Amino acid sequence: MTDQVAQAGMSAIVTGGAKGIGLGIARSLAEAGYRLALWDIDGDALEAAAGELRTGGADVSVHRVNVTSTEDVQGAVAEFLAHTGRIDVLVNNAGIGGDKLVTKMALDFWQRVLETNLTSQFICCKAVLPVMVEQKFGRIVNLSSRAWLGNRGQASYSASKGGVVSFTRSLALEFARSGITANAIAPGIVETPLFGTLAPEVQQSLQRTVPMQRIGQAEDIANAVRFFASPASSYVTGQVLYVCGGRSLSSASV
Ligand code: NAD
Repeated sequence: MTDQVAQAGMSAIVTGGAKGIGLGIARSLAEAGYRLALWDIDGDALEAAAGELRTGGADVSVHRVNVTSTEDVQGAVAEFLAHTGRIDVLVNNAGIGGDKLVTKMALDFWQRVLETNLTSQFICCKAVLPVMVEQKFGRIVNLSSRAWLGNRGQASYSASKGGVVSFTRSLALEFARSGITANAIAPGIVETPLFGTLAPEVQQSLQRTVPMQRIGQAEDIANAVRFFASPASSYVTGQVLYVCGGRSLSSASV
């Protein structure tokens, strides 16, 4: 994509940016010209990601951050702001899976998934919003999932991603007069290292559940993030964009 390019000096934070979809988003935003901050708990993967992006000429800061920690997040915001002077885009991508039937789900498992996937987005938004309000400009992009519609065996994950949708809609309303948009992306099945560990027959059966008959790539999600970050989406807020090959149209999993 070469049609959407950041204005000079624009900056973006990608949480969970060291691997998987987050790294795909980082590659795309770097290509668009954003100065980047990658936040992740995985220090080795962060360094590898930053090395790759810097080799391509990107301006990348890395921060070892646990997005569930207000202290970590506030420290990283201050450090990045000292470098860039502004924060234009926040992509709340960090997240964990959570497959367990409700009857077998311990309370601490439920809470960990909610905290990592939903509360973290509140913490990160709260830390950057004062900066965006001051700038009268901001783009918040929150990763939900097609699973927010409900998935058997994924009650905590689905609830966390449903919470992301409600949170995003509320943010959009609270900041609509401040030049700040907030939108969510709901990916379907995306090819990440975890997907690669599944048996070939499981991969194939999952692929057959996608109307387009292909598994999504990180780049598919990154293209949607780039749209929400760009001027092309300036009149779009509070929306959920499914990027799932039509899977949101299929009947429920049973
Ligand atoms: P991934 O596990 O490949 O990458 C997630 C990244 O987040 C990792 O680098 C991890 O270290 C980091 N992370 C996890 N917890 C963190 C924390 N507390 N603080 C900081 N960093 C943390 O996952 P992915 O598949 O790339 O998923 C990215 C996002 O997309 C998630 O929110 C996920 O729920 C969502 N999603 C993924 C899929 C899919 O099929 N892969 C589908 C729908 C939605």
